[in-house]
Amino acid sequence: MIFCNLQPQVYKILPLILAMEKKKVNIFGRYIFYTNLSIFSLIFLVPIGAYIITGEKSYISPTHFVLAGAVGLAQVLVNRIFRKHFQDYWELVKNSLLQLSQSLKKVRTLRDVRNFKREKNELLKPLLEEESFSTLGESLKELLEDVSNIIEVKLFKDEIIRRMTTTLDTKKLSAIFANNIIRHFNIPAVAVYLKGFRGESFELKLNKGFGELNPVLTEGFIEKLEALDTILAEEDLDYKVDLGVCQVKAKKLFIHKLLPRRNKLVGIVVFGTYKDFSPQEEKLLRDFLVELEPTVSLIFENALEHEKSVTLASFDPLTGAYNRREGLKLVKQILRKNSLENKNVCLLVLDIDFFKKFNDTYGHDAGDIVLREVVKIIRNSIRNNDIIVRWGGEEFLILLDNVPAEKAGEVAERIRKNIAESFIELPDGKKIKVTISIGVACAQSEGTYSFDELFSIADKRLYKAKKEGRNRVVTA
Ligand code: GH3
Ligand code: MG
Ligand code: MG
Repeated sequence: MIFCNLQPQVYKILPLILAMEKKKVNIFGRYIFYTNLSIFSLIFLVPIGAYIITGEKSYISPTHFVLAGAVGLAQVLVNRIFRKHFQDYWELVKNSLLQLSQSLKKVRTLRDVRNFKREKNELLKPLLEEESFSTLGESLKELLEDVSNIIEVKLFKDEIIRRMTTTLDTKKLSAIFANNIIRHFNIPAVAVYLKGFRGESFELKLNKGFGELNPVLTEGFIEKLEALDTILAEEDLDYKVDLGVCQVKAKKLFIHKLLPRRNKLVGIVVFGTYKDFSPQEEKLLRDFLVELEPTVSLIFENALEHEKSVTLASFDPLTGAYNRREGLKLVKQILRKNSLENKNVCLLVLDIDFFKKFNDTYGHDAGDIVLREVVKIIRNSIRNNDIIVRWGGEEFLILLDNVPAEKAGEVAERIRKNIAESFIELPDGKKIKVTISIGVACAQSEGTYSFDELFSIADKRLYKAKKEGRNRVVTA
């Protein structure tokens, strides 16, 4: 990285500039001294030389010596004044540069950089005020401004990356990324979109500050962003930033693409501001985004890959329900937890009725559609923390966490009813209906938290439901 050694480089340069300035002062001093000496010698030695050569006494009249003495004295005075001036200037430069070098050397954290930026302006003030040398001050100011910005970007990058390597959860990662930028640059609105691994569409992982009915959050907008061929773009859009108490018309959007590799877009980050940035602030934000982009993109890409492999390893690809292995692990965990906390938990074993016949009539693909739709209906009939497991074929296991037994019967009945009443549309446009049978067993009423025992009871009740005519729930 270009700026790894920048800080030491710069504080080493400052004493060097100092040495050069000192040399300049010395050269000026010497130059004045020798000029004075030459003028003095000319007035003093030329008449003596003329006398030696010509023997004419009138060349060395006392007037000459008085004049020479006066000129000599004046030269000494001028010399002193010049020297004093250079000396003062040199002291000024010396003090400022040494202090700048010292405080730059101390910069370790982001707060230090901010302090240095403030201190730098103070320290450069005397140099800038000294008119004849203000160019040095101006160039130093610019140099130090750039250096402190680069150090700030580097430290900020280190900080964000350090925080972003603590998790592989894409929502948490988005929040870490956005919150740090919001805090550092005082940006009120951030939206993070990441590419889903199933469909190719973008998923909104985080929205901070953009009002709900905002063009930023629409699909058309994201499509437009996808088509941009730059990683960092700006838009002046009519959009609003939600400040909690009110919505403010925003000034500008910074759109930042996350491209870990060419042609591989993993995400889009949109920053919205409602204030004008100073050119320096804007440059800093841009530098930061461009500098951070490759690493952040890779972090997001890894997290998405991780999420994908975890999902693939845990879920049934056809229905999105837990697969048997992961589901069993999770169900057993919940049973153990509820047994310790003495809370009730119910198992539902669910099987589609006459599914073999359905497959034979409509084909295996239509059967797959039914399996997917049935899981969708189940999901809409239970709470978020309840669990659906594809136990095998067209048989599912549902765990209802922390419910009384009567409630479990009601939920099972609701699932049965919702499925029995839903039309499922097949690819040829035909709308069909299926039914299911459910066996229910609850830990507290059966007096056991053992999975095998509960499963066996629920399975027997499912068999009973089938025998009694299907499309029904059996709880006892
Ligand atoms: P019952 O009412 O007694 O449950 O009758 P059934 O026909 O549903 O019973 P059975 O368990 O004998 O049949 C299950 C059928 O489910 C067999 C198989 O064709 C079908 N099946 C299992 N897994 C899948 C799948 O992934 N996709 C499709 N389309 N069908 C499946
Ligand atoms: Mg069946
Ligand atoms: Mg079956």
